[in-house]
Amino acid sequence: MNLYQKTKSKLYINITNRLTNIFQPINVIPKDAQRKNQEIISKSHRLMLELGIIRQANPGSFHFLPLGVRALEKLLHLIDEEMLKIGAQKVILPTLTHSKLWKSTGRLQDFGSELFTVKDRHNQTYILSPTHEEAVSDLIASVSQMSYKEFPLKLYQTTNKYRDEIKPRFGLLRGRQFLMKDLYSFDVDVENARHSYEEVCDSYNNIFSRIGVPFYKAIGSVGAMGGSLSHEYHYKADIGEDQLISCSKCGFYANTDFGGSDKCSHCNSDNIDISTAIEVGHTFLLGDKYSKALMANYFNEKRRSVPLQMGSYGLGVSRILAAAIEVLSQEQEMRWPLLLAPYTVIIIPPKEGSKEEGVIHHLTEKVYALLETLPFLQNNILVDDRIQMTIGRRMIDARRVGYPFTIVIGSKCMEEKPIFELVDLQKNLTLNLYEEQLLLYLRDALKNVY
Ligand SMILES: [Zn+2]
Repeated sequence: MNLYQKTKSKLYINITNRLTNIFQPINVIPKDAQRKNQEIISKSHRLMLELGIIRQANPGSFHFLPLGVRALEKLLHLIDEEMLKIGAQKVILPTLTHSKLWKSTGRLQDFGSELFTVKDRHNQTYILSPTHEEAVSDLIASVSQMSYKEFPLKLYQTTNKYRDEIKPRFGLLRGRQFLMKDLYSFDVDVENARHSYEEVCDSYNNIFSRIGVPFYKAIGSVGAMGGSLSHEYHYKADIGEDQLISCSKCGFYANTDFGGSDKCSHCNSDNIDISTAIEVGHTFLLGDKYSKALMANYFNEKRRSVPLQMGSYGLGVSRILAAAIEVLSQEQEMRWPLLLAPYTVIIIPPKEGSKEEGVIHHLTEKVYALLETLPFLQNNILVDDRIQMTIGRRMIDARRVGYPFTIVIGSKCMEEKPIFELVDLQKNLTLNLYEEQLLLYLRDALKNVY
């Protein structure tokens, strides 16, 4: 059975964003296969596969299909907007990092078999980078004579990272290739580095607030990364692989792999809760571990060469998307953060051959054009032009894929003054609205999000 029988209709050909134009291969995972693979398939993973958002290429690596890319690009846009506010500059570092850099920081050994390595024809070993502290330190070291006046400096990128997971699972949540946004800060001393650290953490708070899924910031462990201070960002979920300890007395959060778990390490209260969570971001105040090893130095006022103080800040971009879907979705219906849904609005025109079709099919193009005048709905409205299917059937599909707003051009549009049915999925409301009310409703619902 194909959920998306797509016969192209002769109507709506002037509208670019038509459902029959979208490459969205549906992929039903049989129930017994789901049962057998419970330990590696999570709800978000299954829904994203079934509804044509991603498709598996190899164990732990996925094709992002058009709807998935649209959601990712919205997330990247949001991140870029917040980065601009703190003066971070975007770069792209190469995927391949020479293993000698990792050897000099000791991490070749620390990461061990989790590193993907390749050899070139000259027998040089490179790493498919899981993170870029070495590469970015080497970049700074290669620029001679950097003066104290050039700092603070914040560089970031959003690129594919690689990790040879022993057991890839839960789709994008624990893959072998993943999209990660990593930022590196460089400062002249500890105090300034601390200031940069707080600035970036505030920016990450903004990013997570705007995504809108409840998040928890916990004290983290520095682990193999090194440094003096670390925080983690988490979404709470049953399938999470981290355990968060939270104190109901002082509100403190920590990852349980950081010290004991029977008392709050902040206020010593034993009134604590433990919950499972998915880590979606991690920040580190690194000190000079990497800059010293790789000679990322600057010249101070006395013309002395001094190692820079660094910070490193990661956001698991593809993981945030999957984790948000995991938190928000129901078993059979996918839900997106409002800001990240591939399309914010879907319009369902009348069925082919119905009495409505002849009279009101033109309203589809009219409403589409009207809503496109709202800046945040530009190129963000989809028309379900599978008009050989009933309105009811298409409404079920719209719910399953989780488009935040569905507009139905149905029998009520036959009134002298057409009435549109609007389904607001997040509020679980169905409203009957005149054209101008529809516009106002969407404007109000979206103005605070964008
Ligand atoms: Zn406490």
